[in-house]
Amino acid sequence: MELKQMPPSDETENIGSQSKQPGDAVTRVDQNWKRSLTESISSEAFSKWYQNRQFAKNIRNGTPYFNGPSSVKSPRRHSPSQLLQCQRKIVYNQLNAPEESANPEGIFWFGNRFEKDIIMPFLQDLIADSNTYVCNSLWVDFTINTERGELRIKGETDPVVVDAEAQPLLPLEIKTKRSIDGLTKPNRHHKAQIHAYMRGLTKKHDYEVTDAIVLYGSRTNLDVTSFHVEFDPIFWEEVVLEWAESHTSYRLSDDLPPADPEYAWECNVCSYRHRCGQSSEPYADISPYGLLPEYTGYPQEKVRKYLEAHDGAVLTPTLAQQYPELASQHPVAKWQCVSCDAQFLWDEPDWDGDQSAPPLCPKCANNGTPAPLRSPQPDEQYQPQEADQDE
Ligand code: SF4
Repeated sequence: MELKQMPPSDETENIGSQSKQPGDAVTRVDQNWKRSLTESISSEAFSKWYQNRQFAKNIRNGTPYFNGPSSVKSPRRHSPSQLLQCQRKIVYNQLNAPEESANPEGIFWFGNRFEKDIIMPFLQDLIADSNTYVCNSLWVDFTINTERGELRIKGETDPVVVDAEAQPLLPLEIKTKRSIDGLTKPNRHHKAQIHAYMRGLTKKHDYEVTDAIVLYGSRTNLDVTSFHVEFDPIFWEEVVLEWAESHTSYRLSDDLPPADPEYAWECNVCSYRHRCGQSSEPYADISPYGLLPEYTGYPQEKVRKYLEAHDGAVLTPTLAQQYPELASQHPVAKWQCVSCDAQFLWDEPDWDGDQSAPPLCPKCANNGTPAPLRSPQPDEQYQPQEADQDE
């Protein structure tokens, strides 16, 4: 709805004095306009505005690829931020499985602003007299020879304290949590992440980076705590690289890793809980391909990204009913009769979208033997094709 200052109408009220006084910026406001504005401030309107804003920002920043699905990375490539997390979750993520919930944009936004607006100035003031500087971030991109062949680790650090020659002295990893009460050590995967940066910076620069800091900020009260991390070659080789090797093996063999999260909380915030089998939905151990036909919680944007990521992927009839806009842009699988095997277009049967009462097969109904229609299961929707693998 377009909102503009509307001319006074019969419903116009005077605010303050009865007549306009010199110096009053606005003395009369149209009641209809106020109602329109109030109704326009909705969750849907805000969500659409935010998505459009992010889309434009990515183009402005020269990172339009963030607006589409991620390219499928080589099985040998690892991102520091994914190390030591649930192997299955990372495989789902890397192969663009359909995500079941929206991104925690508030957490991303807070983390970003916390680092830029609070921690960076804080660090700059802290080191002001030390002839050192704070660099926003540095890239690491290095390879390691392992028993399972060469692995590559590529990623971007958080702020790094550097010397006057821009040699890295002390990388930091900045994280936010709802609360930092009771934190006594860094999370193991954050320790792994900062180890990857220390090792990468050492390989890239003529300087042994042996120390780092993991800093946590509270999203509730802005409390901060930090932990000094010393490079530990045993942790690096026996824990971090072992995880990376095993992940590469799962990817190379096309095996779905076991549902074995590194941390119990991972499942609660995982965007693949339903296909994994950690929910009340009737699914478990589903491959990264195909939509769950009985799951209705997919956000539209995530379904769109999934369809764009996979040549040959189709929308299920149930999701086509839920998101007709997507159905007009992407192929839709047909309903299938559980009894006579007849197939019908997604909008052919008369159905109100109630998942607990699937549409009936018109053919069987005519024969006096009503039978339900069903959506194809994930493994019937699409066969994965050879993916382009981005090194
Ligand atoms: S639900 Fe848990 S076990 Fe399953 S992929 Fe997610 S984090 Fe891993």
